[in-house]
Amino acid sequence: MTAVGAKILVVEDDAAIRRLLARTFDRAGYGVVEAGDGRAALAALAIDKPDLVLLDLGLPDRDGLELVPLLARAPGPTVIVVTARDATDDKIAALDLGADDYVTKPFDTEELLARVRSSLRRGARASAERVVIAFGDATIDLVERRVSRAGDEVRLTPREYALLAELARHPKRVLTHAHLLRAVWGPAHLDDVEYLRVTMRGLRRKLEPDPAAPTVLRNEPGVGYRLEATEYFEVT
Ligand code: CA
Repeated sequence: MTAVGAKILVVEDDAAIRRLLARTFDRAGYGVVEAGDGRAALAALAIDKPDLVLLDLGLPDRDGLELVPLLARAPGPTVIVVTARDATDDKIAALDLGADDYVTKPFDTEELLARVRSSLRRGARASAERVVIAFGDATIDLVERRVSRAGDEVRLTPREYALLAELARHPKRVLTHAHLLRAVWGPAHLDDVEYLRVTMRGLRRKLEPDPAAPTVLRNEPGVGYRLEATEYFEVT
């Protein structure tokens, strides 16, 4: 699926914002469907089969968070939630319920379009076998389980590798602390954020040009981490 031509469902109860978003996506070449509340969103999901849903969490008839798992259920669309600036708990909950990303109000339309393109690319790739992901001056090969930097192999501990691999399987996507702890340490360790911090510190020392100012293993304050991947190489 190419980004342009994809169908976007805009779920927003504020008519002025909804129209602005619809116009923005329409001009960028997307198909657009609009819904003003949760009920209309679920109806549009069934009828219009959108590729991506932009979901405002503050809806009149139900909590937008309740809609995330219903909308994002495979093989459903990619979901990006729209939240208030300081709603960190909502961002974490939405990501853990299956949202792909979030944008914060008030948003810049260029930034929003970039997020949408990136989410659609990830959705299209999910089915392809992803082998090598490049980030900064390093790469990770998920099949050979090798990490190299400027051509030299980097030695990682098993936990460091597992953490980097989980981030690399979802390039550019924010993964919550709970998601990463579950994937790397298991469900008994969802509160052990210190494990994550220590392991992240080790990874940054080995992979960041300046570990004190990370540019590839990015911190999303209070939410989680994302890998700023630059390229993907796939087996087709
Ligand atoms: Ca609203």
